[in-house]
Amino acid sequence: MIVVMAPNATAQQRETVMGKVKDLGLQPHVIEGVARTVIGLVGDKTGLSLGFLETLPGVEKAVPIMAPYKLASKDTKQEPTRVRVGDVEIGGEQLVVMAGPCAVESEEQLLSAASSCAAAGAQILRGGAFKPRTSPYSFQGLADHGLKLLAEVAKETGMSVVTEVIRAEDVELVGRYADMYQIGARNMQNFALLKEVGRARKPVLLKRGLSATVEEWLMAAEYILSEGNYQVVLCERGIRTFETATRNTLDLSAVPVVQAQSHLPIVVDPSHGTGHWRYVAAMSKAAVAAGADGLIVEVHPDPDSAVSDGSQSLRPEKFRKLMEQLQVLAPACGRRL
Ligand code: PEP
Ligand code: MN
Repeated sequence: MIVVMAPNATAQQRETVMGKVKDLGLQPHVIEGVARTVIGLVGDKTGLSLGFLETLPGVEKAVPIMAPYKLASKDTKQEPTRVRVGDVEIGGEQLVVMAGPCAVESEEQLLSAASSCAAAGAQILRGGAFKPRTSPYSFQGLADHGLKLLAEVAKETGMSVVTEVIRAEDVELVGRYADMYQIGARNMQNFALLKEVGRARKPVLLKRGLSATVEEWLMAAEYILSEGNYQVVLCERGIRTFETATRNTLDLSAVPVVQAQSHLPIVVDPSHGTGHWRYVAAMSKAAVAAGADGLIVEVHPDPDSAVSDGSQSLRPEKFRKLMEQLQVLAPACGRRL
């Protein structure tokens, strides 16, 4: 349920509504819109009536939200949410491109990848320091050392950092070096981890689970929002289907579907979405045409020697070409790059 405050409601009236709903055992979430303030009510609503809320001064109306995700729903907030990461905002006219290697391997590799990505116009550096690998025998990441390299290289190249956190216990550590947390596909329903990043005050990139429906994905976002962190960006990275010609099936229809249901920004990962560098440029352009707010692309200075995801990583010159094409495409899609 949401309580829509009248345009001229006072701060005092808003506080009174918050106090009343807290007395009823509910958590109020204030969502400031352009024209109005809305208070989202989360918790067990038995015993709460719309009529009661509508008698309170300053309340315009109380509206039940039908979707199971309340705070992530477009019914709660119509205007698109903009999430600030460093100097850029995701969810506005600007297309935001995150690029870099799958994993941080060494200072040399990361600096080389980051310099070419930044020169081509990427704003955010990606790179895993903690890698959730399918096999326990595969490279697991440089951990703390990788985080330090990310922060150093990002500073040197004028970028921000997005990097994956795989355990709730590491949220504080990763937050010391990253500008944005990445929650990987395999952890989309790790509820303890979602709650922990929800309590953190840094933006979160929430990847779609390998076999998650859009509703399950938005419910995962709801876990983060319900802890008070509203800076969530969704990331479509392909889902598992019967098709084996690509690593995953990139579900680009999720872009308009999510935009119809939620105010949260959405970006697309064509690297994991296809699993092959050959398809990355085509699907990046398709994602922008579908209305994505940005992209996250794997780029490696020498994909043949990459310790993970080399086959889906673009060489720097291929990435630069893609960025040039996106610069032409962006204005036709109402975007800037
Ligand atoms: C990654 O970004 O390198 C990654 C592991 O992604 P996903 O969680 O989407 O598989
Ligand atoms: Mn990867």
